[in-house]
Amino acid sequence: MFYGSFSLWLLLALPGLLLGLWAQMKVKRAFGKYSKVRNTRGLTGAQVARLILDHYGLRHVSIEETQGMLTDHYDPRAKVLRLSPAVGRAPTIAAVGVAAHEAGHALQDADGYAPLKLRSAIVPAVQFGSWLGPLIIMAGFFLMALTGAADLGYTVAWFGLILFALTAVFAIITLPVEFNASARAKKELVALGILSSQEMKGVNETLNAAALTYVAAAIAAIGQVLYYVFLLSGRRR
Ligand SMILES: [Zn+2]
Repeated sequence: MFYGSFSLWLLLALPGLLLGLWAQMKVKRAFGKYSKVRNTRGLTGAQVARLILDHYGLRHVSIEETQGMLTDHYDPRAKVLRLSPAVGRAPTIAAVGVAAHEAGHALQDADGYAPLKLRSAIVPAVQFGSWLGPLIIMAGFFLMALTGAADLGYTVAWFGLILFALTAVFAIITLPVEFNASARAKKELVALGILSSQEMKGVNETLNAAALTYVAAAIAAIGQVLYYVFLLSGRRR
């Protein structure tokens, strides 16, 4: 069904995938490097997150531990900031940077930051579209191969593609959400006197590498959607 389109897939999907791998390597390297450097005030990630949250009166946002490596996240529904042991318990520059970033998401939630609201709102549709979209596209191609059902198949395939395109929309909305959370983190770490400007270099390196992974994910998602667009456009008779 998709024979002969492998080079097209490579052209559209590979740049995002390669950039993503490179960015993930950069994150691991920066996080590893600054996980070995203690911050001067000896504050753990959890302590710093608490400081930032309390500074904005967000005492109702709790901090919990979660397992894994770089699994840190903020849960807007439960109002819980979950930090991995290497972040929550560690008094390092890397830990403080990641914890402040996650606290930044809690500040966005408290502010009613529009891109975060929009992203949360489309999550169910995105989850649905990411697996159902490709199946409907396949069904459309199958119908197109049948005599007499070509037009119906074409319409069905486009419908599936629109569903699947939600994954790219999600990846694009994620960009302002992540960039803004990092910007808030950098600002608070300086404003609250948590890190020195020298120490901020490590935070910047870590958070900027993390931002690049989201850029890569968006490029990969757009490439994947464009792949289907080209494939379908080429089928019009
Ligand atoms: Zn984030």
